[in-house]
Amino acid sequence: MENVNSDENLNAMLESLKIQFEDKVKLMTNSLNQSGNIKRDIKEVIIQGLSDVKQLFDQQKKVFYNAIKTQSNVKSYATVTSQSAHQHLPHHNNAHNKAKQKNVIVIKQMAEQKLNPEQLKKKIKQRINPISMKIGIQDVRPISGDGLLIECPNQKECETLKDHINKEFKTLSASVPIKKFPRVIITDIEEDIESDSLIRTIEEQNPKINEILRNKNNSITYKFFIKSRTANRKHVVLEVSPAIYEVLVNEQKVNIGWLRCNVRKFVSVTRCFKCLGFNHTAKNEERCLKRQFCSLCSGEHKHNECQSQANHKTCINCVKFNERLRNPRLKVNTNHGALDPNCPCLQYQLNLIESKTDYGG
Ligand SMILES: [Zn+2]
Ligand SMILES: [Zn+2]
Ligand SMILES: [Zn+2]
Repeated sequence: MENVNSDENLNAMLESLKIQFEDKVKLMTNSLNQSGNIKRDIKEVIIQGLSDVKQLFDQQKKVFYNAIKTQSNVKSYATVTSQSAHQHLPHHNNAHNKAKQKNVIVIKQMAEQKLNPEQLKKKIKQRINPISMKIGIQDVRPISGDGLLIECPNQKECETLKDHINKEFKTLSASVPIKKFPRVIITDIEEDIESDSLIRTIEEQNPKINEILRNKNNSITYKFFIKSRTANRKHVVLEVSPAIYEVLVNEQKVNIGWLRCNVRKFVSVTRCFKCLGFNHTAKNEERCLKRQFCSLCSGEHKHNECQSQANHKTCINCVKFNERLRNPRLKVNTNHGALDPNCPCLQYQLNLIESKTDYGG
């Protein structure tokens, strides 16, 4: 329980720091508001600057927490690792390599008349009793197509809940999604290594991995290469079985040829560079909105043609999310660029991928 106490102390420390910081910001904002001598636009810029600093502070706090949690071996739920397969991972995410296993079931409605997520939740609650089933419910959230996603502590409890729901409701279909193996990125490997010789090299030069691979349930699969900014180097993304994943992200290094390369977890969401939506590209006629949106201000133009002020960012995905919401209390903040790693819509997509990934454990 030592970790909990140190976390509490840390929390208290950061909270007091935050309060002091916020007081300062408030003081500055008030004096700016009272002074009539400063031009309004300058005032606005300063106020925006202060609010940015405050936001930054909150972000740093999160990063700090995750780093501490990983160090103290309390498994933390990994957040952002990357925004798209074509963007490089931010460095601070090294601390987020360990992921907590997510176990979920997906519920789809088969009836013509679909209930909204709240009604659906209510309907299930009326006939399913997790207490008598001795299962824990960690999260219930709506998913696309008027479905629900329910998270339980482990796979067995997911199976129990799934069977009960399928037995109780003829109009619902519950399933435990098949999980994919996790992905890792190995950065700055030698450029002339080909995909097939790469996997053989990893196997031969890394004894621990070699041993795990003798068990036929384990595997390493090549996915794709990514350009590196370093000359004569490239990055590679691999899909690996949970046991291999564990070794790679724990050691954070792997021997390949003459180099000892860095490894980290890789989670990416496909993002359309036209409409900025997720899980499709501009070539996908059906899913794409077929309109060019700006990743800075959400206007209908390319980001490099953007005329809006740097401090007036709007995220098109979060705007669209809010428009679709039935419950206004769940509205998200839209005042960031669409490529911001902390965008709530991006976070949601990354969480969804995490919940479909088999980390073992
Ligand atoms: Zn699109
Ligand atoms: Zn713009
Ligand atoms: Zn957003």
